[in-house]
Amino acid sequence: APESNRYDLVVIGSGPGGYVAAIRAAQLGMKVACVEKRESLGGTCLNIGCIPSKALLDSSELYHLAHTKFAKHGIKVDAIGLDLPAMLARKDTVVKSLTDGLKFLFKKNKIEPVFGTARVASGESVVVRDAKGVETTLETKHILLATGSAPVNLPFIPFNGKTIVSSTEALTFDRVPEHLVVVGGGYIGLELGSVWKRLGAKVTVIEFLPRIVPMADLEVGTLLHKSLIKQGLEFHLETKVTGAKVEGDRVTVTAETKDGKVLTVPCDRVLVAVGRRPHTEGLGLVEAGVTVDPKTGKVPIDAHYRTNVPTISAIGDLVDGPMLAHKAEDEGVAFAEILAGKAGHVDYNTIPSVIYTWPEMASVGITEEQAKERKLEYKVGKYPFLPNGRAKAMDETEGLVKILADAKTDRVLGVHIFGPRASDLIAEAVTIMEFAGSAEDIARISHAHPTLSEAVREAAMAVDRRAIHG
Ligand code: FAD
Repeated sequence: APESNRYDLVVIGSGPGGYVAAIRAAQLGMKVACVEKRESLGGTCLNIGCIPSKALLDSSELYHLAHTKFAKHGIKVDAIGLDLPAMLARKDTVVKSLTDGLKFLFKKNKIEPVFGTARVASGESVVVRDAKGVETTLETKHILLATGSAPVNLPFIPFNGKTIVSSTEALTFDRVPEHLVVVGGGYIGLELGSVWKRLGAKVTVIEFLPRIVPMADLEVGTLLHKSLIKQGLEFHLETKVTGAKVEGDRVTVTAETKDGKVLTVPCDRVLVAVGRRPHTEGLGLVEAGVTVDPKTGKVPIDAHYRTNVPTISAIGDLVDGPMLAHKAEDEGVAFAEILAGKAGHVDYNTIPSVIYTWPEMASVGITEEQAKERKLEYKVGKYPFLPNGRAKAMDETEGLVKILADAKTDRVLGVHIFGPRASDLIAEAVTIMEFAGSAEDIARISHAHPTLSEAVREAAMAVDRRAIHG
């Protein structure tokens, strides 16, 4: 290949894993190319994931507040109407400003964006096929696989792109569904279910397991469940979807309850959100000798993100661990630093997870169920938002903060928050845990008044039964 096509690192995929790795590697002096098959940079997260979903969650929450809370705040609005095309267009503008921002960052860091579908040709070369079918070979010292994941398709209720859809299409419905059935009670289903519920749809969630958000702390997850029921979402737990009949714009979903009862749910849109699988098709991994776990589809890696082929590494949704954007980003940084001979590291014990319903749910560390399973001796401190001054001023008093701390050392083991802006509040817990801090540490740190963060501090005090306002 000509000199211009020779790199230190070729990254395949420009999602939060790939683009962050590319930038960090470029900062450390490497010549980097990043291949992307989509027309814009940013991967699932920026284009069809985190960002557009949060844009719609924020818009739909405002619409909902206009109906439910403005009057209480003394705001009179004559007529509240929904302009869905404008709401969707705003979401697209948010996405575009961020994906365009990435173009700028690539330029600034002298990273070559290469648009086309990449295939690993060997441990040191990548072939990219562009939209016109023209192939280019990139020679490189190292390859990073960051191709992310795709929604799982259920064969007995397959996606058709219109009435039975994945999260991608559920971000762009051209009208509010009359009745949206969500298959799967995980965070994607609950977030998008919330969006369309707030905009006026009837929403029914069907979940196979006995509870929604199965990874969450049970007590806090139950609060979320109850809140969503109060908001009008309907749930069928321990119910297995068995099929769907599509007739024009209508769908009849069939499901079976635990005790064998058959459920038929007529609706007009079905969102199947039962998980995501690693995206390795067409990547040429088998030919290049890269091992792929046949069960999970994930690419096995060592502690330095290397696959079994030493010049090929993998990060993000493609590898083990939570399928989250910040986890992919952290791995991108660590990978690039290790490649540059530095000591890159990710602490997998302190990766926060957030569900952006309203109220929000955010957690870090272990749940109370895990503490019991591990037979740990622990203390619990809980504090509700109800007496919190700022929460009252906001009229957002639902929820609580729950802190688990080691009974002997007081070290924080896990923090679970259900409440307003839990997504932002969890950062303090992550920091404390990263520094191996104790509940006492949180309790002794000054927290601005009046803020929601005071509820975190009171929960830390409650670990030793000394909450001031509790
Ligand atoms: P991706 O972001 O999936 O990027 C991979 C990129 O590789 C894609 O752009 C793809 O086109 C490209 N690619 C694949 N194969 C090839 C090839 N052969 N050649 C060239 N390019 C290729 N996570 C959060 O942390 N917070 C959230 O709020 C959140 N919300 C979400 C909401 C939704 C609706 C969805 C679907 C996901 C959400 N996620 C969220 C998950 C998050 O999007 C992923 O964890 C994250 O994008 C993974 O990053 P990645 O870099 O591994 O892969």
